Amino acid sequence: MTPTPGGGHFVGGRFGDGGGDRHRVLDPSTGEEIWSFAADTPADVDAAVAAATTALPAWAGATPAERSTILGGLARELEAVAEELAQAETAQAGKPIRLSREFDVPGSIDNVAFFAGAARVLDGKASAEYSADHTSTIRREPIGVVGSIAPWNYPLQMAVWKVLPAVAAGNTVVLKPAELTPLTTLMLAEASQRAGLPAGVLNVVNGPGRSTGEALVSHPGIAMTSFTGSTSVGRHIAGIAAANGTRLHLELGGKAPFVVHDDADVEAAVRGAVAAALINTGQDCTAATRAYVHRSRFADFVEGVADLMGTVRLGPTRDPDTDQGPLVSTTQRDRVAALVDRARGAGARVVRGGRSPGGALEGGAYYEPTLVVDAGQRSEIVQQEVFGPVLAVLPFDGDDEAIRLANDVPFGLAASVWTRDVYRAQHATREIQAGTVWVNDHIPIVSEMPHGGQKGSGYGKDMSTYSFEEYTQVKHVMSDLTGVAAKPWHETVYRTRRA
Ligand code: NAD
Repeated sequence: MTPTPGGGHFVGGRFGDGGGDRHRVLDPSTGEEIWSFAADTPADVDAAVAAATTALPAWAGATPAERSTILGGLARELEAVAEELAQAETAQAGKPIRLSREFDVPGSIDNVAFFAGAARVLDGKASAEYSADHTSTIRREPIGVVGSIAPWNYPLQMAVWKVLPAVAAGNTVVLKPAELTPLTTLMLAEASQRAGLPAGVLNVVNGPGRSTGEALVSHPGIAMTSFTGSTSVGRHIAGIAAANGTRLHLELGGKAPFVVHDDADVEAAVRGAVAAALINTGQDCTAATRAYVHRSRFADFVEGVADLMGTVRLGPTRDPDTDQGPLVSTTQRDRVAALVDRARGAGARVVRGGRSPGGALEGGAYYEPTLVVDAGQRSEIVQQEVFGPVLAVLPFDGDDEAIRLANDVPFGLAASVWTRDVYRAQHATREIQAGTVWVNDHIPIVSEMPHGGQKGSGYGKDMSTYSFEEYTQVKHVMSDLTGVAAKPWHETVYRTRRA
């Protein structure tokens, strides 16, 4: 049985149902319905923003220690229901249970624990005299009610990345998860209540992007929009935020390059590429999608990746022996299949995969691990986000060419460089345009370090104390030190004359 929450939305500390159409949540490994909810209407979103607005003064005024204690309790509450969270994540997103248990859920809990600690070290600049007559102080203040929108690929993790830095810094939040995968976000809200988070600090609304999502991001009561999702929707939302003058944080799509130099450990690169291309069935914004391999190692690399991909086991998502699950939906599977078919049509060669498996997996949104060669740098499969288990491999001849090709896409979220030469590595990490560059690895993240993009991948940081830059505003307080009525600078404006 999939654990399910007590209602379609969580507003002001209570579960309830929206006034809109019913939506089904499906298990993409079978196509079966696991839950349904009524979508939230603009009136439901109004109620959520009102609850967050009411909760704001007390939460913003709580001491760091008070906020930290509650958030520490939230980490423990999540730990207590870790297996239920893993089961729900697997059921709604089609993740192999091993991934939910070993990556999504513990990573999310670690992030909550990190922000519980970080809440206590959120400081402004110490007082100092930058003018001889004044003491200056910097206050770091919350922004207000944050409207957050999350995607479906890592539902719990994305909810945590949105909520935790915001509430640790004293903001209140209305969060809309992706309509395909709302279960674990609602379970997070439920756990936050058990941990003692005051009603209204975290509210969850639920429904499609174009209706519920747009009602949230265009709501006049929110001070900030924090969005993680596709570049096209992010740009649309940026237009709404610009018109309303709302502060904006955007984490968008990616198309990570994976650069393998001639001196690289090819076995390590092959293993790394398969793991980094197939994690979460490739539905990872930092997944390795374009491998550029020095021509002298190209054949070995392609052969190694094809062989290793051939050992990856597709299967039922609850089986701990399954390596790769389905895509999140048949729509997403068909999108990926169409991209691969168009690449084939344009002259690329599919070395492995490139189709859906039949047999027992036919009812799910499965697609085989896929390796593509002979695609051109300007081709759609190399330039656009596929968001599926597909790796394209292209050759290069020189270091500068590799960096030029790596940078030659509209995105800049993540990248990796594989070499044993420290100078090459340093040069590449400086020149590659991406928010994260790994050296001889690709994918690991840690709560202490920032995640975020450059170029078309958006701006702003998730995770780490850098994310507080997004969710706080600085205020300069300047206090007179002299105590005199006739301040010397007044003389610039008017001369002091005796009557
Ligand atoms: P999406 O852009 O289709 O949807 C994301 C969210 O936006 C969903 O909750 C959706 O309901 C909502 N939405 C859609 N239209 C909206 C609108 N008009 N107004 C308000 N909200 C709207 O993305 P997706 O398909 O759910 O997720 C996959 C995308 O997310 C990929 O492009 C991936 O790269 C990106 N992503 C980026 C990061 C990152 O950190 N940069 C992390 C995870 C996923």
